[in-house]
Amino acid sequence: MYSCLAAAALTACAPQKQEAPAEEFNYSVEHFADLQILRYQVPGFEDLTPQQKEMIYYLSQAAIEGRDILYDQNCKHNLCIRRTLEAIYENYQGDKNSADFKNMETYLKRVWFSNGIHHHYSGDKFVPEFSQEFFAEAVKSLNPELLPLMEGETPEALIEKLTPVIFDPSTYAKRTNLAAGQDLLLTSACNYYEGVSQAEAEAFYGAMKDPNDTTPISYGLNSKLVKENGQLVEKTYKVGGLYSPALEKVVYWLEKAAAVAENPQQKAVIEKLIEFNKTGDLKHFDEYCILWVGEHNAQIDFVTGFTETYGDPLGLKASWEAVINFKNLEATKRTEIISSNAQWFEDHSPIDDQYKKEEVKGVSAKVITAAMLGGDCYPATPIGINLPNSNWIRHDYGSKSVTIENITEAYDKSALGNGFAEEFMWSDIERERAKNFGSLTNNLHTDLHECLGHGSGKLLPGVDPDALKEHGSTIEETRADLFGLYYMGDPIMLELGLLPDAEAYKAEYYQFMMNGLMTQLTRIEPGKNIEESHMRNRQLIASWVMEKGAADKVVEFVQRDGKTYVVINDYEKLRELFGALLKEIQHIKSTGNYEAAKQMVENYAVNVDPVLHKEVLARYEKLNLAPYKGFINPVYTPVYDKDGKMTDVTVSYTEGYAEQHLRYSKEFATLPTYN
Ligand code: ZN
Repeated sequence: MYSCLAAAALTACAPQKQEAPAEEFNYSVEHFADLQILRYQVPGFEDLTPQQKEMIYYLSQAAIEGRDILYDQNCKHNLCIRRTLEAIYENYQGDKNSADFKNMETYLKRVWFSNGIHHHYSGDKFVPEFSQEFFAEAVKSLNPELLPLMEGETPEALIEKLTPVIFDPSTYAKRTNLAAGQDLLLTSACNYYEGVSQAEAEAFYGAMKDPNDTTPISYGLNSKLVKENGQLVEKTYKVGGLYSPALEKVVYWLEKAAAVAENPQQKAVIEKLIEFNKTGDLKHFDEYCILWVGEHNAQIDFVTGFTETYGDPLGLKASWEAVINFKNLEATKRTEIISSNAQWFEDHSPIDDQYKKEEVKGVSAKVITAAMLGGDCYPATPIGINLPNSNWIRHDYGSKSVTIENITEAYDKSALGNGFAEEFMWSDIERERAKNFGSLTNNLHTDLHECLGHGSGKLLPGVDPDALKEHGSTIEETRADLFGLYYMGDPIMLELGLLPDAEAYKAEYYQFMMNGLMTQLTRIEPGKNIEESHMRNRQLIASWVMEKGAADKVVEFVQRDGKTYVVINDYEKLRELFGALLKEIQHIKSTGNYEAAKQMVENYAVNVDPVLHKEVLARYEKLNLAPYKGFINPVYTPVYDKDGKMTDVTVSYTEGYAEQHLRYSKEFATLPTYN
């Protein structure tokens, strides 16, 4: 529940300090549909020791080996569609300049971006702009050996199978359906359940839970739930189980990484993760999480496996993801100040005392440099991560929180001077603040969100951590964002030297409100409501404080020249309102009040004003910007001596977007087309 895109939406609207780029690094690569492809740099890689570089190389290989798993998790036809389209893309002998071919190319690029046929953010199935006739003709024109045919399957049968999946808007319409009142499993295209109703799955996992178990495993985390002969059966992701061919490769590289670990604790972490991958035993997963969260001495760190549960409508089953990284030693000083004051923040939080943690344990925070992104963190990636997710492990052992600064830097640098601030910000005052402090406050908000927000507060005894069900993620992200917003405006930020100026926090407040009330709507198609939990959380906060502060005109919409702007009249009152909402949200979370969570989400987080939405889209369209961004990974190449020992690893940034995905699809083709 804690991998956060929290500030990613804001960075697009942050005009940053007008520094001349140090060198000609080309952050922006290409733009199609609603997506922009960027590169990120890996500063500091050259300064690592040869052994550290070797370890990053092995972990990076593991990171990409899991790629096919995520495609299959997102929808069972994804691998088949990707492989079929890649075959057309590479081998089609017809006119590659035709509109149909070009539109198929864009569709394939979107499939790569989303690890499947559904939009990575909204979860809606893309609308293809190439024709069914072209698709059928192109498939039939290929040598059948190039197609991902099942045993005995003809190209005609493949076409018949895939055509409705690609072209019929009502087939597999949503990857993860969260619409209240429907069977969330039967109406979702994701592949975590098959032939199982929501009621059956809830009963199945409900029966596993022992209310007296204070250290429960993460039930259902690493399996697909299916019905066999009328019985519900979990198919576990493990070596020898579901996704075995991919997980065997992951284990192979993890074993190599363990052999060059930086210290014995880190070696133990990797070995436990290997054991979990081999056994699928969720007790081993918890043991791994405890070891992982306790290891702080190594510079290299990683997430490589089944982690976040956003993709499952019931929030139980984890998608495969990877972020291989190393600590940015200089920037980490900032987060160390925050985490070393964690207890002060907890004690002074505006929530009810009964929900505060008496002792905040093990909040560790660091700034990291991403070296490789994989699975659900690629190409679209979080800018902060806070793990592990298990509530009791967080309570007893703490959590690790990171801000991924080379990613935020790539966002910031690529957004320089793109016209967004000029179009949507009210005046030069807001623009000036954003220019001077926007980047810093953005990073700081992420730090606070990740290393304090998610770790703060506690549930009342006996409250089920999953009590808020489909609203759990939204409420949790709301809580973490509010914690960051509330403290951003606290004088403590100046006292600790985290902000240079008493006005600086206003940069974040303005950007947050503008984004939550207006500009994040650029990511929503006309006529749609807000689905994604981070977007819901931002609108929830912004519209709640606007409503509660309406009598005092704390925040308002103002029209100028036929355009709508967000104007903040009273920043101090706004901060009080953030505090008041944090208190309310913590109460809902701590008591597990599902009805209150539902009310809060349905009243503030979901619905879009169609008139404002239309205006925002029209203004945004004129800027010709992509609302979503994702990344190309660098390419690491090992250097060996004459005895075959790895002596160095070089990094290059020249691989193109299609080139990278086609290479991954060949070199890391780990799974059968259907699993
Ligand atoms: Zn978060």
